[in-house]
Parts: sequence; structure tokens; C-alpha cells
Amino acid sequence: MSNSTGSIPNDQHLSLNDPLKLVDQYQRHKTKLRISLTDRCNFRCLYCMPEHPVWLNKKEILTFAQLYKFCRVMVQLGITHIRLTGGEPLMRQGVVEFIQHLQQLRALGLQRISMTSNAFYLAPLAHALKQAGLDDLNISLDSLDADHFLHMTHKALQPVLAGISAALEANIALKLNCVLLKGENDQEILNLVHWAYLQQIPLRFIEYMPLDAPQHWQREKVVDEDDIIALVSQHYHVEKQQRQHDPATIYLLNQHYPLGIISTISKPFCLSCNRLRLTANGEFLSCLFSNQGGSLSDLLREPDEQALIQTILSSVWHKPAGYIAHQAAPQRKITMHNIGG
Ligand code: SAM
Ligand code: SF4
Repeated sequence: MSNSTGSIPNDQHLSLNDPLKLVDQYQRHKTKLRISLTDRCNFRCLYCMPEHPVWLNKKEILTFAQLYKFCRVMVQLGITHIRLTGGEPLMRQGVVEFIQHLQQLRALGLQRISMTSNAFYLAPLAHALKQAGLDDLNISLDSLDADHFLHMTHKALQPVLAGISAALEANIALKLNCVLLKGENDQEILNLVHWAYLQQIPLRFIEYMPLDAPQHWQREKVVDEDDIIALVSQHYHVEKQQRQHDPATIYLLNQHYPLGIISTISKPFCLSCNRLRLTANGEFLSCLFSNQGGSLSDLLREPDEQALIQTILSSVWHKPAGYIAHQAAPQRKITMHNIGG
């Protein structure tokens, strides 16, 4: 599928039997898909939500049947890893049954089903999610101080900690995600590392990206990877690991604990990006920083799948270089809670 003219792959490349279909003009192969199940969220994280979010009309949200069809086609095209996200994915009723349904795609090549959640509603659902076949869960945790957590998310910390305990009891593989904002939670870096280290739950710090409300992001608010590591190195033996496809750079603390840093801003990793995204209303985003996505909503209603496949392949092929090329916020209305991170 290599094509030095940068043109769209033609029909003869569209067979579902071809193993290398989701590839872009820069020869990046796509194996990971993130699906937003809803744009709604019970949190108002300072770095994610606009102050007055405008929710999608419920009629615009893709049905589970449309989502399943999309996932099936994507797995047939080479996706091996699906992550369910949002908004808050646990606010979508039927999510457990959807995960159960996705199990059928393992026979077609799907290897992992994951979720990213704020964990507020997790405690009563953890066992059912595990039983349904969820492989792993990333939980956002921006502070361990109840007052500060409330300030950052507008919600209480305790149900989130209960959700983490329930997921551990249910034996779901966990990682913690923490977006750092200078002047907000950067004082908690060591506290979070110590806590996660003691519990042996991998923690990843995420650099604040310009994907929240327009004009809100400021470069000065970003806590850079190098500054985090300089601080952590004063307390742990730190060894940087060779970068893999994962967006996080892993640092081994005391030779066994993996601390990850996702440094989109200070060290963009666009050249190895293997991800694609679908918003809750069917916008297909080949890049987190794309100015626009193409809507697949109508195509997902059609019984014939050729036009859908063509559109997907064309959109993937034209995937832009990414943040690395512009180093600026995208010019668009949708923000992080629409996209799902
Ligand atoms: N509600 C779920 C949660 O918070 O985990 C899933 C959706 S959330 C949009 C997915 C991820 O995006 C979370 O880990 C969150 O911390 C991250 N995120 C949101 N806004 C961000 C921003 N402006 N920069 C970097 N990461 C962000
Ligand atoms: Fe909600 Fe997640 Fe955004 Fe926080 S980061 S507002 S929990 S979607």
C-alpha cells in the first residue's frame, strides 16, 4: 500500500483479506481504536470540559448496533485493540452488554478490550465488567486530596477510590492517568507516585494538551516530562526504557515499578502514532489534533459496507502528520470530552 504520490489506495486494495489496510501516507499502521460511547460526563475536569458544555442530542448518538458494525469492520481491517471512552463511558447504559458483544470480534482478530473511566460509577460494575470480558482499565486520578480533587473535577474523591479498590478485587488490570496542571496539582506529583508505587498500580502522568475549551490552554500550565523526572529522580532510582508504540515513555523506578509519561507537548510522538478515534456521534478522527473528522453516521446505517470501508481507508490514508507539524490547538468546536482522549 506504499504510495509515493500520496494518493488514496484504489479499489483493488480494499479487500477485507488484505492484512495491511489501515495505513496512512506516512506509513503509520493503525492497530488501536478509541470509541467514545457518550460525550456526557458527571465530572468537570479543569483541563477537559468547557465551563458550559453543550451535550449532543441523544438522537445523534450512535446506537450500539452501529458501534458494533463499525468495530467489526475496523477489526476486519486490522484493528487489534479497542478502547471504550467518553465523556464518561460508564454513564452509557448497556456498556456491559456491549463489551460482551464485542467478544465475538476476538475470532476476527481483536486482542484487547479496554476502557478509560473516571471510576465514579465503577464500584458496583467492576465484577460485571470483568465477567463481560474487559481486559484492562485506565482510571483518571488527578489528586489524592479530597478538597483538591473536588476543585479539579467538581466531584468527590471517595467513590473513585472505592472504584479503584473494586477493580483490584475484580482482578481487572489497572493503570492510573493523571493530567498535571502547573499551579493546580503539580505539588502532588510525589504523593501520587508514592501512593501508586505502594499499591503497585502503574501511573502515567499526561502533559496537558490544547484540546479543552478554545483559547483556554496555556503552554505555561504544562508540566514537562523532564521536570517530572527530575523531581522523581530525587526519591527513586530511575531508568528510562526504550520507547515502544505506546504513547507513554516508561521509566522504571527502583528497577521494577513502571512510571509512564505521555509527553505530547514537550516530546510529540506523532511519528509512531497507531491510533484512530470515533466520537459518540460518528465523527471519525484520524488524529486527535485533526481540524475535522468525517461523519460515518449515515454510512453506518447503510447495509452495503463498501462506501463505509472506502471512506475509512481514505480518511486513514490522509491522516495528517499530527501535533508535531503545527504545535498548536486545532481550529474546531469539539473538545476532549467529545473525543475521548
Ligand atoms: N471520563 C474518562 C476519564 O476521565 O478517564 C474518559 C474520557 S477522558 C476525555 C480520557 C482521558 O483524557 C483522561 O485520561 C483525561 O485525563 C484525558 N484528558 C482530558 N482532557 C485532557 C487534556 N486537555 N490534555 C490531556 N489529557 C486530557
Ligand atoms: Fe469527564 Fe473524563 Fe473529561 Fe474529566 S477528563 S471531564 S472525567 S471526560
